[in-house]
Amino acid sequence: MSRPERIAIFGGTFDPIHAGHLRSARIVGRRLGLDRILFVPASIPPHKARPGLAAAADRYRMVRLAVAGRKDWTASPVEIRAGGTSFSIRTIERLRRRYPRARLFFIAGADAFREIKTWREWERVLQSCLFIVTTRPGAGLDAAAKGLGRAYGGRVRTLRPGVAVREADFAPGRIFLLKIDALPVSSTAIREKARRGESLRGLVPSAVAAYIRSRKLYEASPASPVPPQSAPRRHGIHR
Ligand code: ATP
Repeated sequence: MSRPERIAIFGGTFDPIHAGHLRSARIVGRRLGLDRILFVPASIPPHKARPGLAAAADRYRMVRLAVAGRKDWTASPVEIRAGGTSFSIRTIERLRRRYPRARLFFIAGADAFREIKTWREWERVLQSCLFIVTTRPGAGLDAAAKGLGRAYGGRVRTLRPGVAVREADFAPGRIFLLKIDALPVSSTAIREKARRGESLRGLVPSAVAAYIRSRKLYEASPASPVPPQSAPRRHGIHR
């Protein structure tokens, strides 16, 4: 390959992963010509820790089920293996060591990105990879960009439909804004549906829905302990 490999980190709580995440990944991957997307479930998410959060091993298993069948998508246990509170800066550093020559991207919905200044070492985060910020119902790009303030305005590029992205556009610290036809889906709504025993068809991949049912996740009573085979494997995870 004559250009550096383009690898995106898609971080999240993924409690559970859903069709909205997958659609966003598909669109971003195509638009930016990404070679690989790493879906990285947080061990303990700094912004979304809450009682009843599904076990990290369960969230990771669901991500694996959701990405199965796509060679360019990988469930990455990097944060779960590290344990504790998952800070993106540490994840980026680890992945940078693992992929020293790659061009690293970070995919974030506008709702997550508008809080960027609360992320640990946020300025280094922005400097360490290229951000792709997508719309999400209820979260537009304007608010996400405004939150950054003037000092960062020069780094922001809106990706217009039909305008190709070239290698030269990938200046360090660049932040791309991408309006997508996002699905009005959230993990919160899915957990609520599962709790009420409603169908999750179309909201999560069918294998994920079956996993949620079999593990009785998100039901009123707490899930039983994670069976040993559900724990993240130590080797051979990154394809
Ligand atoms: P919750 O409802 O529990 O807060 P969530 O649906 O926001 O969860 P997360 O795992 O927290 O899911 O999200 C991970 C990343 O995916 C974030 O950057 C978020 O903005 C983005 N994202 C989540 N849902 C969508 C969606 N429907 N469309 C586009 N991006 C999304």
